[in-house]
Amino acid sequence: MKLRLGARSFGYRGTTMADVQESFLHGQLLERRQRLETAIASSRGSESLLQLLDEVDSALERMKAGTYGICETCHDTIEKDRLINDPLIRYCLDHLTASQRRALEQDLQLASQLQRGLLPNQNLAFGGWEVCSHYQPLGLVSGDYCDVVTHQNESQDIFFALGDVSGKGVAASMLMSQLHAIFRTLIASGLTVQAMVERASRVFCQSTISTLFATLVLVRAGQSGNIEVCNAGHCPALLLQGGKVIELRATGVPLGLFCEGVYPTQKAEMASGDALLLYTDGLSEARSANEEEYGAERLKELAASSWALSAQALVAACIDDLEVFRSGAPLLDDLTVMAIRRVA
Ligand SMILES: [Zn+2]
Repeated sequence: MKLRLGARSFGYRGTTMADVQESFLHGQLLERRQRLETAIASSRGSESLLQLLDEVDSALERMKAGTYGICETCHDTIEKDRLINDPLIRYCLDHLTASQRRALEQDLQLASQLQRGLLPNQNLAFGGWEVCSHYQPLGLVSGDYCDVVTHQNESQDIFFALGDVSGKGVAASMLMSQLHAIFRTLIASGLTVQAMVERASRVFCQSTISTLFATLVLVRAGQSGNIEVCNAGHCPALLLQGGKVIELRATGVPLGLFCEGVYPTQKAEMASGDALLLYTDGLSEARSANEEEYGAERLKELAASSWALSAQALVAACIDDLEVFRSGAPLLDDLTVMAIRRVA
C-alpha cells in the first residue's frame, strides 16, 4: 500500500509523522546507548562495543544538529524504512559502499525467502472450497499479507486472510510477517472473527510505531458454505453470485490506527459455484501508460462476467486483464489477488 496518511492526518495526535519517527528513533538510540554501556562495563570495554557506542553518540549528535537522516554523500534524505531498521545508517541507498551494497542484497534475498515461506500454496482445495492466490511483490519483499489457515478443531472452519501494510519494502515486510504470526496464533485460539480482528488491532497498535498500519480482510468459511467476513479498512471483498457482484465493504478502520477499534463482521451464504474475490490496491490502483487508474469498477465488471470460472481461472483473468490495461506500464505497488470458490 502506498502511504497516503500524510502528516496532516496525524493531527489528532497533535504531532506530525516526521515528529513521531524522529522521537521513535531518538528513543531507539538512547536505549541502544544504555545497553551498550551495560555491555561495555561487563566486558571491560571491548573495541567493537566502544566503536558502536561512538556511532550511537555520533547519531545523537546529528539529531541535535538537525542533520540526522541526511545522506553524507548527496545530502538527500535517507529512506525512512531503512532508518527504522537501522538508526545508525548515514548513507542513502544510492551511496552505499560496494560491500554495504552486497550485504544489503544478501539480507534482502534472505528476507524474500523467509517471506515466501509464509505464503500458502498457490492452489488449494479442501472442505468444499477451492482457493487460488497470486502474490507479486514490487521488489524482493512485499507489504502484502496473504494466508489460508485450516482450523484444527471440530468446526473444520477455514480462514482466508488478505491484507496490506502501509509503506513498502523491508519495514512493511517485517510487519507483514508480524501480522502472519498474530493471526496464526489468534485463529488457533478459537475466538470469533470480530474478537480476533479487535485483538490483532490492539496488539498491532501496541507493537508497531504509530505511523504504520495495515488494512485487512479476514474470512471464516464454514463447511456448509456460510462465510463471515471482517473488512478492516481494506478494498471491498467481492462476492460473486451468478452474474451478480456484491461488495463487502470495510466496517472498521485499518489495524493499528486506534487500539480500541471495533470490527463488526458481515455474513453470507455461498452456494456451489459462488466465489469471493479479494485483492490489494496494487490491483485496483494500478496505472496504465496514460496514467489512468485500473479502478474498482473495471474489476467489478470483469468479476461479473467471469463468475463461472474456477478460482485459478478467475485469478488468471484478473492478472491478464490488468496486463492488457497496463500495456507495459510498470506496477507501482505490491500486488495480491485471491479467489475462493465454493465447489461442494
Ligand atoms: Zn546519497
